[in-house]
Amino acid sequence: MLLIDTGFDPARIARNETLFHTANGYLGVRACLEEGVPPHVPTIRSTLINAFYDEKPIAYAEKMKGFPETQQGIVNVVDCQSIRLSLGEERFTPFEGTLHAFTRILDMEAGTAQREMEWESPAGNRIRIVITRMVSFEVRELFVIRYQVESLNYQGPICFASFLDGNVTNSADPDDPRVASETMRHLIIDEAWGDEESSWIACHTTLSGLSMATRVSHHAEGFSSAFLAGDGATETVFTREIEPGQTTVLVKYCVYTDERRHKNPLVDGKAILREVLARPLEGLFEAQRAYLANYWKNARVVIDGDDKLQRSLDFSVFSLLQSVGKDAVSNISAKGLSGEGYEGHYFWDTEIYSFPFFLLTNLAIAKNLLRYRYFILDAARRHARLLGHTKGALYPWRTIAGPECSGYFPSGSAQYHINGDIAHAFLQYYRATNDLDLMAQMGAEVLVETARLWMDAGHFLDGVFHINGVTGPDEYTCLVNNNCYTNLIAQENLRGAVEIMDLLDAEGKAEPVVKKLGFQAEELIAFRHAADVMYIPYDEKRGIHAQDDSFLQKEVMDFLSLPPSEFPLLQHFHPLYLYRHQVCKQADTVLAHYLFGEDIREEVMCRSFDYYEPLTTHDSSLSTCIFSIMAARLGNMNKAMTYFKMSAMLDLEDTQGNTKDGIHTANMGGAYLCVVAGFAGLRILKSGLLLRPRLPREWKGYHFQFFYCGRKIRCEITENQCSLLLLEGVPLTIRVFEQEYWLEETLEIPLDKTVG
Ligand code: BGC
Repeated sequence: MLLIDTGFDPARIARNETLFHTANGYLGVRACLEEGVPPHVPTIRSTLINAFYDEKPIAYAEKMKGFPETQQGIVNVVDCQSIRLSLGEERFTPFEGTLHAFTRILDMEAGTAQREMEWESPAGNRIRIVITRMVSFEVRELFVIRYQVESLNYQGPICFASFLDGNVTNSADPDDPRVASETMRHLIIDEAWGDEESSWIACHTTLSGLSMATRVSHHAEGFSSAFLAGDGATETVFTREIEPGQTTVLVKYCVYTDERRHKNPLVDGKAILREVLARPLEGLFEAQRAYLANYWKNARVVIDGDDKLQRSLDFSVFSLLQSVGKDAVSNISAKGLSGEGYEGHYFWDTEIYSFPFFLLTNLAIAKNLLRYRYFILDAARRHARLLGHTKGALYPWRTIAGPECSGYFPSGSAQYHINGDIAHAFLQYYRATNDLDLMAQMGAEVLVETARLWMDAGHFLDGVFHINGVTGPDEYTCLVNNNCYTNLIAQENLRGAVEIMDLLDAEGKAEPVVKKLGFQAEELIAFRHAADVMYIPYDEKRGIHAQDDSFLQKEVMDFLSLPPSEFPLLQHFHPLYLYRHQVCKQADTVLAHYLFGEDIREEVMCRSFDYYEPLTTHDSSLSTCIFSIMAARLGNMNKAMTYFKMSAMLDLEDTQGNTKDGIHTANMGGAYLCVVAGFAGLRILKSGLLLRPRLPREWKGYHFQFFYCGRKIRCEITENQCSLLLLEGVPLTIRVFEQEYWLEETLEIPLDKTVG
């Protein structure tokens, strides 16, 4: 499982910093060149700690009531990537001399990123360099660089200068709303120093006042060393002689600790580093391999017949693991830990796109993602009050620690559907686990508080429940009445709250929640009623769901005649222009049909797909995967495959042109879902498990496994059949297309009539 990039192209440096980054959900290090780049070469040098943020005031020309005053943003923390290599007076850089080889390798089984080079200096000195990096899954604070130099013809002094630098800023682009608009320095250095054992920088953020520390220790056999510190940076210089045929190695152990997880970052970092140093480096690499072997066992989707897509899917599944927070204060940001795009914020991306992957393959992580939402429930309650709601909780559209961080409310706070998205994840968790205890501990509270919000945000008109003045998933259509997706997910949210409260009641587990929330029995009646009379916009003439009350009355935007340089439209058109037209940034009604399709007539979904498809630009990376899933659902496997390829290759081929700012994590989850929820048609429903397996014409087969209600099931689809194998747990009923089957050990279901 390797991702390989050969050849040295300065234009690919920033993109490769993203693709070859190493991360573990806590710490992420972009794959920047240790030796640095000349000033004219684009690079984004960052190291990120998930959920470690600073604040900055949001500047509004006209600030209205309830607008957030400050915004949290992930901090580019102390840089430890820099290592300068010199052969005598000559400093190594791929920009000078001759590169005989330059290869980057991401090894997704070893959990390492490697750079292999053969370099000839301008004076003709030739060396082979192998640099291996690892961010450990076992010791989450640890980042290691092993820098190996073999002399091919050089005799003389060799020197490594290794740095720790607290003088770092966050990167910015004032013309791209998807990244921060100003370059900012967020760290104030408290100490930059060293002793026999290690060097360190302790610092804190300017406004949020959060402290962190980085500690570094080196292992360099046969070298003599010197240490310097000053101006918020440290430098350790290692020198020795080298001769042809000889190999020297510098190992740099870097430990990152922060106040959100460690009582005393500087002191805790010291203890962690000591423990690490007591172990052989090989042992750390082996532990990484073992962790990943375990992960891949459940997470991998195996495709028979397409190596390229196999690699991209492996990359997606690996990236999700690298990105996902594994403690209660962190989640998965839109770019994981691979870049500063979207400022480290968490969106609905988690619940609708990434969570389903973890729910099926790694329950501990899935649970943790829910725990995070529970952890910020109080902040969501405060947010609701700020927006004038007298009851309930409204989750922030984008956040790190809980407060709303969106500075543009029409496509930010107005996306109330995030409440339903989070409720949906809790309900999916319950259906996939039967874990009523988690519902008693946190799920019921989240479901009831979000349901209360709908009751407050919506209203009854002529006996029908409407939700006005919100924005659905499509960010090119803002502030509308009755967005179809929003109303459907609110309906599920309201019914889900009733269902879970009833279940808890029946089990005698409802009382603590009822007490805590001051919950009245009449509320359940009101929830049920609002859900039953929820208005779902439907256009009789076209026989489709209308995206909202006014969408179909607008002029259709002719974006097909625009040159590619005009995309994404958000960077070239005033929002009002887009809002006035029928044009979609991403799947909206089609997404509703993916989530709620079991209750919708197939002809309606078909006609809706055909209607919205030509109106959708897919300017958001959250779109093509949903069109793939729905194309498969509706039996158009060619189209499903075309959209799947777009989703799977999005970052590897940088098709949106912004991979340099970080991977698109929601799309990574989406690519997985294209196969599992799309081609295999897996749905977790109240009534049980459903599959609609199909095989794309181009493939010989594919298989994957997943957890469901205490069971582990393997599903393999080949040309003629779908084979199900119960790997763990007790037998169950599974619906495949229209028929129910009893899965005792194995099942082989012929597929002839179903292959698309
Ligand atoms: C999409 C949102 C998404 C955000 C972060 C935007 O471009 O329109 O749906 O949540 O990116 O990924």
